[in-house]
Amino acid sequence: MLAERLAFRHVSTGDLLRRAVREGTVLGSKAKGFMDRGELVPDALLLDLVRETLEEKPEPAGWVLDGYPRNLIQAESLSKMLSEARVAMGGVLNLAVGPAFLVERLRKRAVVEHRADDTEETVRNRLRVYEEQTAPLVDYYQRTGLLKTVPGEGTVEEVQERVLGAVKRRTGGMA
Ligand code: AMP
Repeated sequence: MLAERLAFRHVSTGDLLRRAVREGTVLGSKAKGFMDRGELVPDALLLDLVRETLEEKPEPAGWVLDGYPRNLIQAESLSKMLSEARVAMGGVLNLAVGPAFLVERLRKRAVVEHRADDTEETVRNRLRVYEEQTAPLVDYYQRTGLLKTVPGEGTVEEVQERVLGAVKRRTGGMA
């Protein structure tokens, strides 16, 4: 919704990886086991995927990266890639949701989307992986002054309003 509103390209690494798995590509076959266990796919596999996506033509006005970066190594490689391409990062959104709410949300999504990684056990592992590897990015981006934390509990519409509000404040009303 955010990408549509800004006329940016939405890049979800999770969607790209799931497509690679569906299409049976080499990347997909390497990534599948990690995804099914709720672990992060190795950084090297993500790097080419993200680089290729960012190089796709025609170049959009901007990108909404969703689910990337997920650890400090990815954050460093993203900032290197962006500076080589002379692209500035406009902001970083942290959707803050408590674990109980998340588990409930994923339980409902499992019924609708049948994702292999929305089982109870994998969800628990994904939360552990988030705490260990992704949560440190909150401090990392806080220090850059780019971080906006938005409460992510509530309905899609409520969260969307908050996200748009946060983006507007960052861009001075461009959204
Ligand atoms: P998502 O759709 O963002 O929840 O991602 C689903 C799964 O894809 C994750 O649990 C990981 O196994 C993998 N994945 C997605 N994005 C990344 C990333 N940036 N780094 C490593 N693995 C990822």
